[in-house]
Amino acid sequence: MELAKFIRDIPDFPKHGIVFKDITPLLADPTAFQFSIDRMAERYAGSDIDAIAAAEARGFLFAAPLALKLRKPLVPLRKPGKLPYRSYSLKYELEYGSAELQMHVDGIDHGARVLLVDDVLATGGTMQASAQLLDHAGGKVAGYCFLVELDFLGGREKLAPHPVYSLIRY
Ligand code: AMP
Repeated sequence: MELAKFIRDIPDFPKHGIVFKDITPLLADPTAFQFSIDRMAERYAGSDIDAIAAAEARGFLFAAPLALKLRKPLVPLRKPGKLPYRSYSLKYELEYGSAELQMHVDGIDHGARVLLVDDVLATGGTMQASAQLLDHAGGKVAGYCFLVELDFLGGREKLAPHPVYSLIRY
């Protein structure tokens, strides 16, 4: 199946010069959505992975069905003030300003090998921060999985040496 036809380009969103990869047409097509999750699950079936983590919010859309299909624990990485229990926190710099992600202190077992999932790999900044947060919590990054990868932004290089898998590359 040609998944790229379910990704809609929205020029100049959220700001001028950015071409936003809109995944909602894919989410709206159960066959394409199922196909995406099945391909991801195939890639990691039998892999040495203890848990799946994703950053709020669009990462959850792919991480949750993948975690169920692979029968792995799901760890949400959330924006500040959302998690009810004791949490680890990591602040990181974005192109404009800074952001913060949090996870529960008991979110993963010590030494757990964690697969990080998101909808789009752009610069890799969010995933790099997610990896640092997991590292802080005693976990190890097992790899990165994306629906869409924007090659020209060099995110894959930033996430090296961990393996990156993506279903659609631009
Ligand atoms: P990154 O630059 O890799 O840290 O991307 C930050 C977040 O914004 C990721 O969760 C991506 O899903 C999202 N994102 C960045 N650039 C785009 C884009 N062109 N289209 C859609 N989502 C994007």
